[in-house]
Amino acid sequence: MVVQTSPKMPPEECIRLEDKAAGLDGYIVIHSSARGPAAGGCRLWTYDDPAAALTDAMRLAEGMSYKNAMAELPLGGGKAVLRRPAGNFDRRALFEAFGKAVAQLDGRYVTAEDVGTGVEDMEAVALHTSHVAGRTARPGFAGGDPSPWTALGVFEAMKAAFAFRHGGASLNGATVAVQGVGSVGAGLCRLLAAEGAKLVLADIVDARVAALAAELGGTVVPIAEIAGVEADVFAPCALGGALDMATLDAMRARIVCGAANNQLATPEIADELLARDITYAPDYVVNAGGIINVAAEYLGENESEVRARVLAIGPRTTAILEKARDEGKSSSFVADREAERLMSREVLESL
Ligand code: NAD
Repeated sequence: MVVQTSPKMPPEECIRLEDKAAGLDGYIVIHSSARGPAAGGCRLWTYDDPAAALTDAMRLAEGMSYKNAMAELPLGGGKAVLRRPAGNFDRRALFEAFGKAVAQLDGRYVTAEDVGTGVEDMEAVALHTSHVAGRTARPGFAGGDPSPWTALGVFEAMKAAFAFRHGGASLNGATVAVQGVGSVGAGLCRLLAAEGAKLVLADIVDARVAALAAELGGTVVPIAEIAGVEADVFAPCALGGALDMATLDAMRARIVCGAANNQLATPEIADELLARDITYAPDYVVNAGGIINVAAEYLGENESEVRARVLAIGPRTTAILEKARDEGKSSSFVADREAERLMSREVLESL
């Protein structure tokens, strides 16, 4: 699905990356450094031209500013987007060249994995700069697979959204429809099952969803039906753009809370959710567990600090939903204004 977004704040800086010999062709965008070094992963993807890569980098970097600020991390927002070279290419040379480009920014941008990049790539980057996370996990330090932390944050947010909607009730006995049971979706399902929630599951990989249903119990439905099943909560945990008009028309759940990034297919969907009295826990508020873990690796924090930051996602979700209700605004609108407040000079000077 196509996700449309319009810039909320212009970026501070766009840096062109070009090293023909190494196959490096892309951008680093520093969207905001108000809260600290601009942090966000490095995406390797096929783009038709540099302009398409830049547009994506700007959109993604902006998203990181809002997500990092909302999680109250001492980090700004940035992103690197690299055009995947055609045919075979020397991966190590590409990421070493990227590492040199990151090094030149002297800590103003911190990179990590994203779509199309992995631990080995970050190890190549780390040969040239220390401003990189998502490296091989070391025992006793924060780091490693971020998805369990993302799942925990979504779970905490879902409990908060359910209690907000149903006057303090727990998810025990509630039905949750989970779209996508990959790394985060499956982790979320395990937490939900332990809480006593009933699961309805869908995934394009039949064997994956069947195995999870066999492990935890729950009903498997075709992917085209998951949004419309009878459920209390719809949890988009697959791709972006899950919430469009057709989905809203079909949806029976009155709460949306899931891990996927950019869930709103268009910005107008935020008001549509409000008009339909659907409680929407904004995606970047609830799915920050992963970046919290990545940030902890970079900042040298330990696991208990990661847990405390991830558990704070629950009360933060409640606060946003309450403010949105009190002001008659969409939860997305309220979340954006709160993130912008957390990036403002006024707030930062008071810290
Ligand atoms: P993943 O690739 O492990 O899982 C995605 C799952 O969705 C897969 O099982 C895939 O088969 C399934 N899927 C794809 N299209 C589908 C469809 N149309 N209907 C149903 N299922 C479909 O990815 P993940 O790491 O679990 O991430 C899930 C989402 O959460 C992504 O949008 C990701 O950007 C976002 N997110 C992930 C993290 C993290 O820590 N991994 C952090 C923040 C946000």
